[in-house]
Amino acid sequence: MTWSSRGAAGGMWAYRYVGPAEVRASAAHGAAGRVIRSRGDLEAWLTSSEGAEAREPFTFVIGVDGVLRLAPRRSEHVACAGGGQVLSAGEITFARGPEGWECVAVTNQSTGYCPEVASWPAVADALDRAGVPHPGQFTDGFVFRRCPRCGERNIVREGDFVCALCDGKLPESWNFDSAQMLAADDKGRETANRARRDSNPQPFDP
Ligand SMILES: [Zn+2]
Repeated sequence: MTWSSRGAAGGMWAYRYVGPAEVRASAAHGAAGRVIRSRGDLEAWLTSSEGAEAREPFTFVIGVDGVLRLAPRRSEHVACAGGGQVLSAGEITFARGPEGWECVAVTNQSTGYCPEVASWPAVADALDRAGVPHPGQFTDGFVFRRCPRCGERNIVREGDFVCALCDGKLPESWNFDSAQMLAADDKGRETANRARRDSNPQPFDP
């Protein structure tokens, strides 16, 4: 799977973490999400202690390897991803169907990565390869924008492109990253991004 060019036919966009640096720093000490490559993996997760609340939505990410990873609800997406980039992220709910566990609800709700609804194909691919039936699209789609004025990450509700924090106008296009930045190394990308969005940049903590 290729993921280097956003919007290109057959390509996938890798989302980097765009949340607070302190969250990423604390996430670095925890375990990454459970890798789910098959229905057997899912079954094992859902019957484990961590997955015991099987009816609750879980935190999920799709790694740049295209594989689904799960973590308990309210886990940080960046921790689930082991600090890396993702092809998609959000919350996912499973229920036992006539032929075993299936995905009954899935969203792109991740304020750590702010992925687009257009990241769905990566989720579908991962679930298809694991043999897990799914709804065929996000059951709830979230639209994320960064406020150009104050830097706040916003969820756009009902087409109202206004910042919840400063009432600034939000752009119509997704604006958390740019293609050029994807070519830079992780550290350079994070530093550049912090410098760009913070009027008072704090020292970068590698
Ligand atoms: Zn704002």
